[in-house]
Amino acid sequence: MSRLDDYKEVAPKGSIDFLKRLADKIEGKGILHINSTKLGGGVAEILRSLVPLLEDVGLKARWEVISGNEEFFSATKGFHNALQGQEQRISPGMLRTYQEVNRGNAQSLSFDSDFVIIHDPQPAALIDYRSSKSKWIWRCHIDISRPQWKVWNFLRQFVVKYDAAIFSLPRFAQRLPIPQFLIYPSIDPLSDKNRDLSAAEQEEILSRLNISTDKPILLQVSRFDRFKDPLGVIQAYRLVKRHHDVQLVLAGGGATDDPEGEVVLSEVREAARDDPDIRILLLPPDAHMEINALQRAATIVLQKSLREGFGLTVAEAMWKGKPVIGGFVGGITVQLVYGVTGFTVNSVEGAAFRIHYLLDNSEIMAKMGEDAREYVRRNFLITRHLGDYLALMNFFGN
Ligand code: UDP
Repeated sequence: MSRLDDYKEVAPKGSIDFLKRLADKIEGKGILHINSTKLGGGVAEILRSLVPLLEDVGLKARWEVISGNEEFFSATKGFHNALQGQEQRISPGMLRTYQEVNRGNAQSLSFDSDFVIIHDPQPAALIDYRSSKSKWIWRCHIDISRPQWKVWNFLRQFVVKYDAAIFSLPRFAQRLPIPQFLIYPSIDPLSDKNRDLSAAEQEEILSRLNISTDKPILLQVSRFDRFKDPLGVIQAYRLVKRHHDVQLVLAGGGATDDPEGEVVLSEVREAARDDPDIRILLLPPDAHMEINALQRAATIVLQKSLREGFGLTVAEAMWKGKPVIGGFVGGITVQLVYGVTGFTVNSVEGAAFRIHYLLDNSEIMAKMGEDAREYVRRNFLITRHLGDYLALMNFFGN
């Protein structure tokens, strides 16, 4: 029995057999994924599950990570922020570093595969070293609908050389002369991050993290990044705290391709100072079971992002039957069906209002959690995601 069959228990009925049919005509084809970090952030999270499943359905799947120095990652973080609309100064030196590091990586990586999927802007310039026999696809996970144009125009010169681009939301797509596809990201229900935990496992982890469940827990799991608005979460918690004795847990860590985390973390520490009911947990990037246990222990999960690609943490919490309150941005808007599978909000006050509302209405909270889990089952599991990739490969011929 392949690993894929294990998903029959959790995926919608019939979907696993259908995946096998989708894979039939492309059996033995090679698919190579390239991104910029093995650990931390949503892309690595997905690839860790997706790549073995692509193997399981009979493809030759590989995952490579580009290497880069600090200068490179601080340049690409600048691009990332600028592409998501933040004002950034991008110097000609940064553009040069970007291209040089990509050139170096092209020399050490083998692109020998039928499909090469390049994730996000960091490795996008590898396209300059493509061979014509592979199909190259740029998979963009971020919101580039309102970019700083200078940076987008720079990146665009690489993107147009691809055979296709994939975006996470229709709104994220740009005017491009290449075919564009829409693929929602997904979570793996059987990974350590999302699988069921026994009561003993759950208890052991929470006691190790020194988290008590005496008071309702508001939780946000995120890299310490301004777009995730951890300071806004603290403000919302403070408004709620006037009426409800809750605690706030902010759990996060860094990603190896995100050098800004330290600064944001110290701002968060400063804002939380002197409040024993705010817990800031700095977790290593492989703390999957810890995040799983925290999401299960939470009463309400927040993802108050100001910009978001997709927001996997939302689907993760929904899968655990939790009501989620998220910023009305990016992929959060397709996961949280307002008032049914969660609430989207546009302000600190809005978040506080919805937290109050749910704390005062425990039956609504429970029902919302149930609906949230069902919605994830139908739309955001890794099995659906795998099917989308198989369909795309079929599209390009077999
Ligand atoms: N995550 C993690 N450790 C952390 C913070 C986040 O493992 O300290 C995980 C989180 O559970 C989720 C992913 O990283 O699976 C974050 O994906 P998301 O799409 O929410 O945000 P991104 O970081 O990609 O912007």
